[in-house]
Amino acid sequence: MQIHDLRNLIGQDLLLRVTKHHPLYHDIASELGELIVREKSGQNIHIEMDEDNNVTLHIHPILRPSRRDMFILYHEFGHVADRLNPSFGYSHQRRLRLNSAQESCFLTLWNVAIDTRLNQHGLFCLPQSGDIELVVDNIRYRLPKSDVNTYLLEAVANLSQRGVNRPGSLVTSIWNHPDRFLTFSDLLDLVP
Ligand SMILES: [Zn+2]
Repeated sequence: MQIHDLRNLIGQDLLLRVTKHHPLYHDIASELGELIVREKSGQNIHIEMDEDNNVTLHIHPILRPSRRDMFILYHEFGHVADRLNPSFGYSHQRRLRLNSAQESCFLTLWNVAIDTRLNQHGLFCLPQSGDIELVVDNIRYRLPKSDVNTYLLEAVANLSQRGVNRPGSLVTSIWNHPDRFLTFSDLLDLVP
């Protein structure tokens, strides 16, 4: 893996720690071509991987990593870990066929499926402060981001707005069963 972090957003040792010792895949680093680190725009932290296993990470600068920063790194590379794992059965072709509502549902479910496993490894970490406004069943809530119920309800609200049936029990069931490995197909089957 060749790291290109032109603006020195994240220390190399930190990137190596997360990619060489990720709990969801034994050695991500040895599978990757280039790892490009770019500054995120707005709130949009995300990771992209091409068919030659080159990865671009869009993120904020991390000078002294907090537990939350570490979780964010493990989460983003959690997507890469699943994609590299043959048992997950990722298919970019199938994903490209999703419309934008379906893609949003898929990503929400995949995020929870990653986070529940990271939680099992003691790496899940919520923001320390701040509120979020959520609308569920036409009721507006203002809830603290530091509460795991807010995290789960945000996923539920997202799925409910996109027509997922009984999103509450779906999200709770994924969250409560970190040992049940959901494949790419399992996740797609949950998307309406
Ligand atoms: Zn994610």
